[in-house]
Amino acid sequence: MSSGVESFRQLSPSEFFYRNREIAGFSNPARAVYQTVREFIENSLDATEVHGILPVITLRISREDPSNPDHITIQVEDNGIGVPPQFIPDAFGRVLYSSKYKFRQTRGMYGLGAKMAILYAQLTTGKPFEIYSSTRKTRYIYYYKLMIDVKKNQPQILELASWEKRSKWHGTIVKLTIEGEWSRRVRDYVAVYIKRTAIITPYADITAILPSVEKEDEYEVLRFPRVTSMLPRPPKEAKPHPLGIDLEMLKMMINETGAKTVLSFLTSEFQRIGEVTATRILKNAGIDPDKPPRTLDDDELQRLYKAMREEKYWAPTDEPLSPIGEELIRIGLKEILRPEFIATASRKPSSYSGHPFIVEGGIAYGGELASRLDEIAQDSVKGETGPYIVLLRYANKIPLLYDEKTDVMWSIVDPSKFPWRSVYKLEPTDTVAVLIHICSTKVPYKGVGKESVANVEEVESEVRLLAQELARKLREYIQRKKRVQEARQKLSLFLRYIPEVAASLAAIAGNGRGTPDPSIQKELTEKMREIALAKIKLSEYEASA
Ligand code: ADP
Ligand code: MG
Repeated sequence: MSSGVESFRQLSPSEFFYRNREIAGFSNPARAVYQTVREFIENSLDATEVHGILPVITLRISREDPSNPDHITIQVEDNGIGVPPQFIPDAFGRVLYSSKYKFRQTRGMYGLGAKMAILYAQLTTGKPFEIYSSTRKTRYIYYYKLMIDVKKNQPQILELASWEKRSKWHGTIVKLTIEGEWSRRVRDYVAVYIKRTAIITPYADITAILPSVEKEDEYEVLRFPRVTSMLPRPPKEAKPHPLGIDLEMLKMMINETGAKTVLSFLTSEFQRIGEVTATRILKNAGIDPDKPPRTLDDDELQRLYKAMREEKYWAPTDEPLSPIGEELIRIGLKEILRPEFIATASRKPSSYSGHPFIVEGGIAYGGELASRLDEIAQDSVKGETGPYIVLLRYANKIPLLYDEKTDVMWSIVDPSKFPWRSVYKLEPTDTVAVLIHICSTKVPYKGVGKESVANVEEVESEVRLLAQELARKLREYIQRKKRVQEARQKLSLFLRYIPEVAASLAAIAGNGRGTPDPSIQKELTEKMREIALAKIKLSEYEASA
């Protein structure tokens, strides 16, 4: 029976994400396993490399309850900075609570990932989340068992304990149990995710212990030992760029600022605004520069926002970005794919709508590549047109596995569009791996799934330039290699005729009666061989240079 009057109530953030979990990647039991692994590993990498710690990460997936084979327990341990005990409940029990709401590049930045996994566990198995953590400063290890009170969006602590440390261990162990699927397909997705992570984190030590798909009580271990102790440059926190904010953000910043005047608000809270620019903006907006920021009315705010947008600025600084760097890309590709040839490239920092970004990448060809790619190229299908291009996509150092065909990176390297054959001279049977990394303080993801990057014009153009540079380097290598092979063939032919030529020459130089002088013949043969072999060496040297 309806009273004819609708009833209203507010949804808490936890409740909202609980109801709409598919937007955060938790759409079904198979995807949920992958997504949980991804969120935990990304948190671990953020807690280590961003703070200058060489990551040691262990993932353990298990089925602990024989009566519930679809209950999947996921545990991740790291040697990161740890979470101070007073923040643990909120960091893991309050949706939209994060230490990463800063203007710098990290893998997580929404304050959502861990909580979505915890909510999903709660929803499907009803089991609580467990965490052990210790920071570098404390002498204790803290343990929490908690659930999320969905209606109130707050943590509900079930158990709490602490121990004195016996070692200098710092880091975090998180553990939860979700209803998931552990099939060949899911196992492969998780393995591919780990391998693709390993490619761009050769400075990390990663171990994954995964249950066998077929046999109970059996496990497989994927080991990726550290191969270098070089870390990517860490992101530096920066102030927002005036073109990188919207009106709401401007209002929020005005509410929080300690600046006494609008003029000093502009110069102190933004990058790329000095006195002169600030004065001009305020003049154009018709606002008294000495006015206290919080006294601006709505109309003035709108005018300020408009005047800020109409101003010209230096491009945003790339300091908050943390690209992988060409050297690490090369090391990672070499270690995991063992190709015959690698080239890398890195574009200069660029920006779109006030957000800085960098596009970098690598290309690999030959050697053990084709066989090793089979385990990594999960969903790529060999195209009819050829060559076979396996695209390894990354955004803010996160491997992207789903929705490849809608991604801007694919739109560029797609063999039906990119002139791999006509311009870059690849054969239809060639296999090539192309790694592309886009990093930004705001990756323009398509939709909320964070799996595919949108076709923003500026980004697209940088990705195209990168792909062209990589393809050009590969073409040069292949052509050089071809030239060397041709030269070698010629020389080996020559080598075969040496004894004959030497014999005739020795005859001429010898007694003049047509009988070769054996000692001269021997010497000539040696000399000619030496020259031929030196030529082969030289052409090889040229090819590798
Ligand atoms: P986000 O990563 O987007 O900030 P999460 O819900 O995944 O959101 O994590 C919330 C917060 O918990 C993080 O901002 C971080 O401060 C803290 N945290 C999560 N995992 C770890 C970890 N392994 N080590 C240290 N801190 C962590
Ligand atoms: Mg996270």
